[in-house]
Amino acid sequence: MQIENNNTQIDLVLEKAKKGNGLSRDEALFLLKEIPTSGEKFELLLHTADYLSRKQFQNTGEVHAQIGLNWDKCQNNCQFCMFSEELHKIKQSKCLSEEEVVKRAIEFEEKGVGSISLMSTADYDFDKYLKMGKLVSENLKNRTPLFANWGDIDFEQAKAIKRAGFTYYYHALRLREGVVTKIDPSKRIETIKNAHEAGLLVGSCLEPIGPEHTYEEMVDLLVIMRDLKISWMATMKRINVEGSPLQKYGEITDEEFAKITAVTRLFYGKTIFTMAAHEPLAINLRAGANFLVAEMGTNPRDKNVETLDSRGWDVDSCTKFLEQHDYKVYKGSVNKRYLKMSYINENFTHLERLLLNCNAE
Ligand code: SF4
Repeated sequence: MQIENNNTQIDLVLEKAKKGNGLSRDEALFLLKEIPTSGEKFELLLHTADYLSRKQFQNTGEVHAQIGLNWDKCQNNCQFCMFSEELHKIKQSKCLSEEEVVKRAIEFEEKGVGSISLMSTADYDFDKYLKMGKLVSENLKNRTPLFANWGDIDFEQAKAIKRAGFTYYYHALRLREGVVTKIDPSKRIETIKNAHEAGLLVGSCLEPIGPEHTYEEMVDLLVIMRDLKISWMATMKRINVEGSPLQKYGEITDEEFAKITAVTRLFYGKTIFTMAAHEPLAINLRAGANFLVAEMGTNPRDKNVETLDSRGWDVDSCTKFLEQHDYKVYKGSVNKRYLKMSYINENFTHLERLLLNCNAE
C-alpha cells in the first residue's frame, strides 16, 4: 500500500514539475529519496526533466568553452581538487601565457561557442587575472561573452571583473563547504551577492557530488542557490583525486548522477537559462542537461596539465554529442538568446542584469 501511495505521489509531483514552475524543497527531497536508479519511475523522472528542457530551451543545446589558466597549488585545499596544496603532486607550476590564452580564446570564438570561461586557481594573482580578461575581451571580434571563474570576490573586485570585460561569474557553495575546504561558506554566498550587485550574472552548480552526501544536504544547497537567483545551473560528480581523504567514499554511478541532474533540473524549472552536467554523459542528456563545456588548458578534475589530451572534450565533440541526442546546437552570442528568453519568460529574474551588462548586438 505504501509503495502504491508513493508511486501515485511521484506521478503527481512529476506532472506538476513538467509545467516548469519548479519544485519545493520537500518535493525534490521526496523524488531523490523515493525514486530508485532504474525502473519505470526512474525513466519517468528522466523523461520529465528532458521534456521540460527541450520545451523551455526550444530543443536547443549550447556548447560553451573553458580555458584553465594555471597549474599550481592552491592554499584553500579543497579535498576534491587537483590543485589542493596538500594533494598536489606536481612540482612544476605552469601558467598559460597571454598569447596562448588569446589564441585559444580566438579559436573557441571561431568555433561559435556560447561563452568563454577563464578558470584559474583561487590563488592566481587577481590583477593578472583582470589583465588576461581585458586582453581576451579586446581580441574577440564577435563579442563572445566572457565567464570569470576565479575565487571569492568583494564588491570592488566584482566591479573590476565587470569592467575588465566579463559578463558572467561562475561560483558555487560546494557540498560540505568549510569541512572539506578551507573556505567559510558565508564567503561563497557573499561572492555571489557581490557579483550580482556589480551587475554580473552568476552560473552555479551542485558540486562535487559523492556517495557520502545526503539528499538533505543536496536540496539545502539547491534552495540556497535558487534563493540567490543564479542564472545557470549544473550538476557535477566528484572525480576522486589520488591521495584525497574523500577517495574512500568512491564515486557516484552514472544513474545516480542522472537522477540528481533530473531532480535539479525540475527544481529550478524555468528560472534558469540552461542546464549543464559535468562529465558529459548520454544519460545526462536524457535527464534535462542541454549544455556542454569544451575545455582546454588545466582542469581541477584532471591530472593531465592539458585536459584536451585527456578528460577534456573539444567543441566538435560536444556539438556532435548534442546533435546525436537530437539537440540543435546554438551558435553565436548567447546573450541574444538569453535576452529573448527573458522577454517571454515571466519566471526569469535576469532581464535587468542582462540589459545592463550584456553586449547583445
Ligand atoms: S577548488 Fe578552487 S579554491 Fe579549492 S583548491 Fe581548487 S582552485 Fe583552490
